[in-house]
Amino acid sequence: MPKPDLRPHFRLDRRRFLHAGTAAAGLLLLHPFSARAAAGQAHLRILSTTDLHVHVHAYDYYADRPNNTMGLARTAAIIAAIRAEATNTLMVDNGDYLQGNPMGDYIAYSRGMAEGDVHPVIAAMNTVGYDAGTLGNHEFNYGMTFLERVNARAEFPIVCANFARSLGASPRQDALWLPPYVILERELTDGAGTRHPIRIGLIGFVPPQIMQWDRAHLEGSFAARDILEAARAWVPEVREAGADLVVALAHTGISAVPEAAMLENAALHLGGVEGIDAIVSGHSHRVWPSADFKGEGLDEAKGTLMGKPGVMAGFWGSHMGLLDLMLEKDGAGWRLAGHESAARPIYKRNEDRSITPLVEDVAAVIAATAAAHAETLAYVRAEVGRTAAPLHSYFALVADDPSVQIVSLAQIWYVAGMLKGTPHEGLPILSAAAPFKAGGRGGPEYYTDVPAGPVAIKNVADLYLYPNTLQAVRITGAQVREWLERSAGMFNQIVPGQPDQILVNPEFPSFNFDTIDGVSYRIDLSQPARYDLAGKLANPDAHRIVDLAWNGAPIDPAAEFVVASNNYRASGGGSFPGADGSTVILVAPDTNRDVIVRYIVEKGTIAPAADANWSFAPAGGATVLFDTGPTAAAYLDDVRGRGVAIEPAGDGEGGFARFRITL
Ligand code: MN
Ligand code: MG
Repeated sequence: MPKPDLRPHFRLDRRRFLHAGTAAAGLLLLHPFSARAAAGQAHLRILSTTDLHVHVHAYDYYADRPNNTMGLARTAAIIAAIRAEATNTLMVDNGDYLQGNPMGDYIAYSRGMAEGDVHPVIAAMNTVGYDAGTLGNHEFNYGMTFLERVNARAEFPIVCANFARSLGASPRQDALWLPPYVILERELTDGAGTRHPIRIGLIGFVPPQIMQWDRAHLEGSFAARDILEAARAWVPEVREAGADLVVALAHTGISAVPEAAMLENAALHLGGVEGIDAIVSGHSHRVWPSADFKGEGLDEAKGTLMGKPGVMAGFWGSHMGLLDLMLEKDGAGWRLAGHESAARPIYKRNEDRSITPLVEDVAAVIAATAAAHAETLAYVRAEVGRTAAPLHSYFALVADDPSVQIVSLAQIWYVAGMLKGTPHEGLPILSAAAPFKAGGRGGPEYYTDVPAGPVAIKNVADLYLYPNTLQAVRITGAQVREWLERSAGMFNQIVPGQPDQILVNPEFPSFNFDTIDGVSYRIDLSQPARYDLAGKLANPDAHRIVDLAWNGAPIDPAAEFVVASNNYRASGGGSFPGADGSTVILVAPDTNRDVIVRYIVEKGTIAPAADANWSFAPAGGATVLFDTGPTAAAYLDDVRGRGVAIEPAGDGEGGFARFRITL
């Protein structure tokens, strides 16, 4: 456990990584607060990162290629440039540094953390030079011993006021795991060049939902308290201890919901806590100030949360959070006389969606993590598990498919663990998943294709294309049926008995073709689609989903089910019945991709044999034509084994291969 570091820091020490020619140097103009500060007034710039998730290099390890939207090595260039011109700066991190990309998984699952080891994200942060940090919810993902060893090498204090070994009768009697706050004794240089002492209090908070999300690591030995309750108890003590200024390092998002117990996203209401001067927010992976958040108490123009300056710096190093505070001498102390907030991006997205980097890597940050980067590259390219079946999506639109099955198996496994001890435990868990790479406009090569044998981490990006997070909904059997009806709009209506009809409607995106595992059903293509392309009920009398069964019997329309899916679908993406946001019962902190990696690591060998839980209903011997990638021919026996009467039918257009299916 790190001891609070109360030594005065001098900003010049922190510039060791700043080299002449840093690209960001030209970005910044002297801030008006610095220009305006008079004797007895000082401009303090609080710089922040949040949700780094081990992103140090501008590199997407899943895709195994450079990516200019991420990396503390880039954010560090903005930090260096501001330090070079600012009189008074403080650098803080807001948590979620430890987990969330293959470098983090490599250290946790492969290299390990012996006592004394320096974790690469800590090596990078120590190189940048931080004054303080707090815990995010993901810090607990690899267990407490791991976290202890990581934090032991942080050259800055880490604080958290609502995470404890056990709770007392009131927050200040909690047996906290870390110091709740730290008071940094610094000197501020005022507008006349005179130095004055200042005591800056930094207090940390983590979402109490960690007790659910990391139950396996925390239950029985740790406890978390409501963020606002902890803040109202501890902030007065920070003041009593002599802090001139109190800044909340709040690993919690911004949400304009009314105050309630155990809020996950409590940053707005922290603005209403007396004694807090400014809030560094995070957790939501969004940006404040920006149009990302709207609602009562939020002022985008001023960057305020209930009137207090706030900032949220995106995620993965995408932005640097900047709180510009104008402080005025107030007797022996200081008072906040003015403020501005901004999140400074490391890249811009152009109109054609291309990315232009705004800064270059800081060489010292790259150098501090070069070995870990090289080892991570080897790790993502090496075997982490094996698959007994080839994982390909060539036939994912016409038969139950192993590339979709593996996603569902991992999702069901994960959700079952997450729902233990909740009111939803014991409900049947289904999983909805769609083939993301299924040809179409992506072309005849655009398929998932992982052969049987070793699976590498980088293959998981191929299995799950989007960085979605996992969510689950609780819906009825009737809603399950309608969800599948919406999916079945993928196909054209087929006339029974007629030859060579075109099967797939090319206007329907494959990512909206959810199949649901855990139930069995057939799709009757002789019926028109019940829902149109936009998800509107178009043919109220049509029913394509037939023989829908759960547990071997017709599904009970009133029975309740949990359906594992993703944040896009659960919040209304694709307009699926039962998935409009109101039915969500689990907002998981993990990406679906991470869930698949964990599943493969846990199982060692996976055997995602498709269970043929869905198929087309017979249509009087009608034949349909289906285009897929030419490599599909190698897997023809495989899909025939799943009950599909399929044969080659020559070439399709644009390099696709054509197949004929008899219904
Ligand atoms: Mn995060
Ligand atoms: Mg299946």
